[in-house]
Amino acid sequence: MNKLIITITFLTLFPFLPVQADENQILVEQECKRIGDKLGSVNVNDCLAINLVATDGRSVKGAPILLKEYPPLPSRSPLGKVLLIGGIHGDEYSSVSIIFKWMRILDEYHSGLFHWNIIPLLNPDGLLRKDSQRMNENDVDLNRNFPMEDWENTALKYWVDKTDKNPRRYPGKAALSEPESSWLAEYINEFNPDVIVAVHAPHGIVDYDGPRNGPYKLGRLYLNLLGTYPGSLGNYAGIQREIPVVTIELPYAGIMPTRSEISSIWRDMVKWLSENITEEAYIESLDKNQVAAPS
Ligand SMILES: [Zn+2]
Repeated sequence: MNKLIITITFLTLFPFLPVQADENQILVEQECKRIGDKLGSVNVNDCLAINLVATDGRSVKGAPILLKEYPPLPSRSPLGKVLLIGGIHGDEYSSVSIIFKWMRILDEYHSGLFHWNIIPLLNPDGLLRKDSQRMNENDVDLNRNFPMEDWENTALKYWVDKTDKNPRRYPGKAALSEPESSWLAEYINEFNPDVIVAVHAPHGIVDYDGPRNGPYKLGRLYLNLLGTYPGSLGNYAGIQREIPVVTIELPYAGIMPTRSEISSIWRDMVKWLSENITEEAYIESLDKNQVAAPS
């Protein structure tokens, strides 16, 4: 008991220190249980088998933001760093479940081609409540809470003028006012990814923001540039920071794609990443395709 009190006091005083191994285990077990209970297509034991870690990121209600790293392997240097994110919106169930399916693929086949960091659920409070909701616990749409120049006259004004104060699109009282989005912005600085892939639903398309061109097609999802919303991750990371942001919009929030479609999106994504993850990879792929083309 005393040990627990000391640990809690220690974590309160030093929240940025890495969570101790046993503490991590307890947090991950709790979260896997909650996620498995909520999502029919995520099994608690499968979640535990992935060996996620609890980052120092916490939701409004104190739930840990979980992460899985697939680091570079000694056998090859990776083409680049990919940050893959699901569950930015808490009612888009398939966007979380598909990340768990893809982590199982990586658990088996991680070849060191990329250095992956994967956040299956950025908005645990939005998902893990009785009635799941798009927004976080403060009713903020995390995908409108990212910084941009003159935020009040852009993101906030857009919400007032263009969405008629739609509560599902509320960007918050200030940029990065929310613990989940401010943690992610810090984490992007720390990891410094070459590409970000964010999964959403239910528009059934691929969207893209950033330098170079987006993937024309991933599985049965075709590129359809929706335009960027002020305060969105695509706007912040893709346009302002010039980190390519691929947004995968699955066709249904509550129904998973078929097993073959899940693999097909994954294969197409890996192929696109390998040809576009960095400027060098892009140039190399152009050269390669030119050599391969019949003269
Ligand atoms: Zn979404």
